Order: sequence, then C-alpha cells, then structure tokens
Amino acid sequence: MLEIKNLHVKLEEDEKVILKGVNLTVGPGEVHAIMGPNGSGKSTTSYVLAGRDGYEVTAGEALLEGQDLLTMDPEERAAAGLFLAFQYPVEIPGVGNMTFLRTAVNAQRKARGEEELSAGDFLKVVREKAKTLKIDAEMLKRPVNVGFSGGEKKRNEILQMAMLEPKMCILDETDSGLDVDAMKLVSDGVNALRDGKRSFLVITHYQRLLDHIKPDVVHIMAKGRIIQTGGPELALEVEKNGYADLLAEVE
Ligand code: ADP
Ligand code: MG
Ligand code: MG
Repeated sequence: MLEIKNLHVKLEEDEKVILKGVNLTVGPGEVHAIMGPNGSGKSTTSYVLAGRDGYEVTAGEALLEGQDLLTMDPEERAAAGLFLAFQYPVEIPGVGNMTFLRTAVNAQRKARGEEELSAGDFLKVVREKAKTLKIDAEMLKRPVNVGFSGGEKKRNEILQMAMLEPKMCILDETDSGLDVDAMKLVSDGVNALRDGKRSFLVITHYQRLLDHIKPDVVHIMAKGRIIQTGGPELALEVEKNGYADLLAEVE
C-alpha cells in the first residue's frame, strides 16, 4: 500500500536536514505505529507524504500502490487515497464544516470517476458518521474547527477521514490532547474503518492509544530515521524504559 524508500528531506528555508533515510513499507490492511522522541521527524514524514510546501526531498521515494506520490499535487494524493489527520488541525473561518466536507467528498468522487453524492444522501451519511463520533449537528454548521476544543478538532479530523474513506490513513498524534473518553471515541472511529484492505500509519507519543488501535508493527523514529521495528511489545518496552537505551545502541 505504502512504500517509503530511503527518504531524505531538508527544509527549503534553512537547508536543515530533517529526514535521513526513512524506510517503511505498510501492506494492505496493516496498522503501523510510529513512536519516537519529539523532533525526530514524525510529522515531517507525514507532511512530505501529503505534499506540504516547504520541504525538499533530496533523495528517495514514496509510493502509494506503486504510484509515485512525490510528483503529485496534494489533491491528487488525496484522490489516490491518501489521508492525513493533522497533529494541529487548522481553523478555516468562513468555510462551513458541512460545506467543506461535501466539497472534499465530491471532489474526490469526481477524481475517481464516481458520481457526486446528492445533498440528501450526503446529509444522511454525514449525520450518521458524526453521531458515532459524538459530533453534534451544531458543530457541522460552524466554520471548520473554529471555536472547537482540542478534542473536538481531533474528532473532526476522524470525521473527515470517515467521510473520505481513504486507502491509506495517516494519523499524526490524533490522541494528544484527548481525554480517555475522547480517545475511545477516536479509536472506535478508526477501528470501524478497518476492513482488511485499508492501511493505517498511527503516529503517537503514548502507548495507551495502541491498546485501543492494535498495531501490527511498531517503529521507533529518532533523529530522522527509523531506528527500530518490532511488534506491539516494542511500544510497551518504550513506555517502560524510554528511548535512551535504544538511542544509545544506535549511537
Ligand atoms: P516530530 O513530529 O517527530 O516531533 P517534526 O517532524 O515536527 O518532529 O520535526 C523534526 C525537526 O524538524 C524538528 O527539529 C523541527 O523543529 C524541525 N522542523 C520541521 N518542520 C519545520 C519547519 N517548517 N520549520 C522549522 N523547523 C522545522
Ligand atoms: Mg512532536
Ligand atoms: Mg509531530
């Protein structure tokens, strides 16, 4: 589903090298987690995959179902089935949440050669999915994320994901800032989308999210590289011992 090979990335602004040879392969239906200290390049990896400006890929490649992601525009990547739930969801004043969702869903359907959803069908689907995420109707009418709490913003990211039904979902610290109940809601929302084909890359600081969203593979990223890969037990080990031992081994 997703193949990242030897990815090297620097900041356009000041030439700072952030990613120093990231390798990662996520198979169809698999859930991979990335953990790692702050500043190790986890968000940068997700931004570069999604096509955010400001980064220069100096070597390597990223493929979605064999298609070269890095030469595509962000909207082409989305149409191809990539979705990124932001660590810091942005507020979009003046754009209603419902309008935003319907425009995104229909643009994607169009790009895939599918018919647009009628207003009625769209409403039905969005209301049903919002309900399971405990997002009330009033939040759907407000401008995107404006005045939402941290937890509401994160749930709204999952609503977008549920509406777009991507093939490859990347969640960047979607658990940070969530209380226990909200984390359960978000995890249930993610788990409901697991269907044996759709793949997930879950970036998290905390092992506890992985109690709810059970990963097949856990990677540890540090200093712009994946320094260790293992099963769910690796997350427990890190939770208990921290990153210091792993980092020392690499040095
Ligand atoms: P993580 O998500 O693992 O905490 P990031 O990918 O956010 O790490 O950041 C990796 C490093 O790159 C950090 O040192 C961060 O300060 C730097 N960095 C990333 N993007 C930018 C940017 N746009 N401007 C300045 N520094 C950046
Ligand atoms: Mg961070
Ligand atoms: Mg980050």
